[in-house]
Amino acid sequence: MNDNQIKDIVIVGGGSSGWMAAAMLAKTLGKGRQITLIESESIGILGVGEATIPPIRLFNNALGINEVDFIRHTQATFKLGIQFENWGAQGESYMHAFGDIGRGLGFTSFHHYWLQAQKMGNSSGFWDYSLNYQAAKANKFTKMEQIAGTPLSGIAYAYHFDAVLYADFLRKFSEQLGVKRIEGKVVETNLQASTGAVDDGFIRSVTLENGEHVTGDLFIDCTGFSALLIEKALKTGFTDWSHWLPMDRAIAVPTESNGELIPYTRSIAHKAGWQWQIPLQHRVGNGHVYCSKYTSDEEAKQTLLNNLSGKMLAEPRMFKFTTGMRKKLWNKNCVAIGLSSGFLEPLESTALHLVQASITRLIILFPDKQFHQADVDEFNRQSTVDYEKIRDFIILHYRATKRDDSAFWQACQKLEIPESLQQKIDLFKSHGRIFREQNELFSEAAWQQVMLGQGLMPKSVHPVTEQLSREQLEEFLNNLTSIINKTVGNMPDHGDFIAKHCAS
Ligand SMILES: Cc1cc2nc3c(=O)[nH]c(=O)nc-3n(C[C@H](O)[C@H](O)[C@H](O)COP(=O)(O)OP(=O)(O)OC[C@H]3O[C@@H](n4cnc5c(N)ncnc54)[C@H](O)[C@@H]3O)c2cc1C
Repeated sequence: MNDNQIKDIVIVGGGSSGWMAAAMLAKTLGKGRQITLIESESIGILGVGEATIPPIRLFNNALGINEVDFIRHTQATFKLGIQFENWGAQGESYMHAFGDIGRGLGFTSFHHYWLQAQKMGNSSGFWDYSLNYQAAKANKFTKMEQIAGTPLSGIAYAYHFDAVLYADFLRKFSEQLGVKRIEGKVVETNLQASTGAVDDGFIRSVTLENGEHVTGDLFIDCTGFSALLIEKALKTGFTDWSHWLPMDRAIAVPTESNGELIPYTRSIAHKAGWQWQIPLQHRVGNGHVYCSKYTSDEEAKQTLLNNLSGKMLAEPRMFKFTTGMRKKLWNKNCVAIGLSSGFLEPLESTALHLVQASITRLIILFPDKQFHQADVDEFNRQSTVDYEKIRDFIILHYRATKRDDSAFWQACQKLEIPESLQQKIDLFKSHGRIFREQNELFSEAAWQQVMLGQGLMPKSVHPVTEQLSREQLEEFLNNLTSIINKTVGNMPDHGDFIAKHCAS
C-alpha cells in the first residue's frame, strides 16, 4: 500500500451507525488498514432505531451476514410496510406497503388503470392489488421473489429489530475482522494548526479522558446528536428544517408482547404527533413523537401511556431533537454518519437507511490522504439530495391531511412546503403523475400510496387507460386480485414462519 493511502480510520461512537460503519469498512477496505472504534459505555447509545426499510437487506447481504443468525440475535421480525392510522382523517387508515402495486402496462403505471376503473364505477381498493398489504393484514409472511407462474413480483420486506442487539451483533462481526474497540470518552479533538497547507484544520487526533491520544488519517463521527467532531470541533453548521418538520421530541417505552406478531409497523396519529408500535419477537417498541409547541411533555407521556397495549417493561425515556442536516456531511478529513449528520424524524424509518447510504457512498468515494475536493463535494451533493427527497416524502404526510381537530393539525394544513414537494403534489393532483427523480429512495408506488392514502385524488385519468374497454379493464383487475388472494391464502402465518425458520 503506498504512502498516500489512508491507513488509520478512527470511528468515534458505537451506536448502530458506528458499528455499521466499522463492519462495512472492515469488510471492504480492512486489508492493510487499522480501523479503531472508540465508544463510551457511560454515555451509551440511543438504542431506538428499530424499524427499517428493504434496502437494509442489501447492507446485511453485502456484509455476508446469515439472515437467520441476524434474526435470532436481534429478536427481529419481518416488516411489510407501515400502517398510518388517523393521518388523512380520523378513523381512516392506509398502508405504505413495500413492493409493487398491481402491474403497469407498457409505459403506463398500474395506478392509472385503477383510477380509470374507479371513474367507471369499480369500487375496489388500491391496496387490493398489493401483495404486501394483503399479506400484512392477514398476518402472513413468507420469502418470495416472484409470484410463481406470473410476472408479478413477490414479497418485499425489511425488519423490525432491537437496535442495541444489532449494534452488539455488528460489534462481534467487526472485531472478528480486526476492528479495534477502545472503551473511553473523547474529551478533546485536536486539529492541525493553520500553516496555509491543504490540511489546515484537519483532525489529527482525539484525546480520551484517561489522557490517551488516538491519531488517524480519516475520522468518522458517529457520536449521535452530540456531533462531537463534525460540529463541536469543525463547526460545520446545520440546516434547520423544523419549519417544515416541526416534530422535536419523542418518548419511548418497551412493552410486553401480547397478541399476534404483526408484520408491519403501526403509526397512529394523535393530537400533536404520532405514536409508533413496532413488534419484535421479545417485546413491542412504542414511542410518541410530538411537537412541543402544541403539547406538554406530561400530556405527550400520558397520550403514550394511555395507548399502550401491553405491560411496560421499563420507564419511558425522552429524546429531544431538531430536524435538519449538517451543511456538509464530509468536512476536511471527517465524515459524519448517523445522527451526527442530521435527523428527519422516524416516520418512514429512514435514519438507518441514511447511515447505510453514507457508508456505501464513502466506500465508493473513498479518499487517499490528498482528500480531493471533487470527491468530497460529490459526497456532500449526493447526501443532500438523499436528505431532501426523504424530507419531502415525510412532509407530505403532515401537509396532506384533512384533520383540523387540533391546533397542530390546523397548522399542518397551512404548512408552507418546499417547492420540490409542491411540484410533486401538483403533478399528482392533475393526472396522477409521479416521477422518481435522481435515484431517490422512495418508489413511485410509495408516493402513490401516501398521496392516495392521505386523500389526494387526481382530477383526470391518463388517456392511455381509455384504450381498454370496461370489460378488459375489469378482467385485468380481477385477474390480479385472484392471483394475490390465492398467493396470500397459501402463505404461512408470520409468527409461525419465524418460529419454524428463525427462532432460537
Ligand atoms: C425517537 C427516535 C426514534 C427512532 N426510530 C428509528 C427507526 O425506527 N428506524 C430508524 O432507522 N432509525 C430510527 N431512529 C434513528 C436511529 O435511532 C439512529 O439512526 C441510530 O440509532 C443511530 O444512532 P447513532 O449511532 O448515530 O447515535 P447513538 O446511538 O446516539 O450513538 C452514539 C455513540 O457515540 C458515543 N459517544 C458520544 N459521545 C462520545 C464521546 N465523547 N466519547 C466517546 N463516545 C461517545 C456513544 O457512546 C455512542 O456509542 C430513531 C431516532 C429517534 C430519536
